[in-house]
Amino acid sequence: MNDKLKKLNINLPPLPVTSVGSFPKPHYLVRARSDFGKNKINKKRLYELEKKATDEWLDYQENAGIDILVDGEMYRGDMVSFFAEEITGFNKGGLIRSYGNRYYYKPIIIDRVGWTKPITVDWWRYCQSKTEKPVKGMLTGPYTIMDWSFNEYYPDRKTTALTLAGCIRKEVEALIDAGCKIIQIDEPALSVRPDELKIVIETMHKITERQDAYFITHICYGDFEKIYPEMLEISVDNFDLEMSNSNLDMLELFKKYPFTKDITFGVVDSHNHLVEDVKLIKKRIKQALEYIPKEQLWVDPDCGLKTRTIEEAKAKLNNIVTAVKELR
Ligand SMILES: [Zn+2]
Repeated sequence: MNDKLKKLNINLPPLPVTSVGSFPKPHYLVRARSDFGKNKINKKRLYELEKKATDEWLDYQENAGIDILVDGEMYRGDMVSFFAEEITGFNKGGLIRSYGNRYYYKPIIIDRVGWTKPITVDWWRYCQSKTEKPVKGMLTGPYTIMDWSFNEYYPDRKTTALTLAGCIRKEVEALIDAGCKIIQIDEPALSVRPDELKIVIETMHKITERQDAYFITHICYGDFEKIYPEMLEISVDNFDLEMSNSNLDMLELFKKYPFTKDITFGVVDSHNHLVEDVKLIKKRIKQALEYIPKEQLWVDPDCGLKTRTIEEAKAKLNNIVTAVKELR
């Protein structure tokens, strides 16, 4: 096991199982969020239902045998606007179409950005209080917040991202103060603009330098060939990567340039209804083990599962746990 995990006193079984972050919201919560938007229910009622849905996902993960838990992001809409609403200096912005038929509010930076209070700490503390297993702190990275927002204030993309990195660093410090030891900082926007890898290396360094936690970053939608192996310079302990969606193509790259850090290896496609069977998942893990030492290998779905049905999400995770148990 990784030295840092030992030092942090985190004990994990071989091939630890986790998930990227988001889970599908139950129908009652989807309805409640819509009702809240129309002022039909108050914030307190919405919060009660977010808590109920979070409890259900925590119970599920615990019972399913997942090793590192997530809160499931029941209280978040879009991964960038959630943070833009809490960091000062942003305006809500207009509705923008992203890939497929999904719409989101693209925030606008109109003033100096700043962190004024913890954003995710109360939810993390709540979830960790309900389980003995580690719960990951989950943050959107400054590069992705910058890339998925309009900027009307800062002179360039790099300055914007670095300033936002200062805000995310403060959130990391608040999570660590609360007792959080494993923190994931998602940078899905990176693989779309490989020429800006240097910015992410700089922002991640600014966030994680001299911080006492085990850091993971999740990158997806990607053209990894263009950023590998340079991306290993990003100062995190573990890369959570979408591997199955691209037929494990990246393993070829690992043959040329060994993967030097821990990896959370996506073994099921998060964007497909089809539920991969245990046999296929075991095959993928065995293929991964040809290139990555078992001490460095964690396992999860490719990406967040929020666009799947609850049944599909659970079926995929259950099959991952079964596959891993058989291999252990
Ligand atoms: Zn992803």
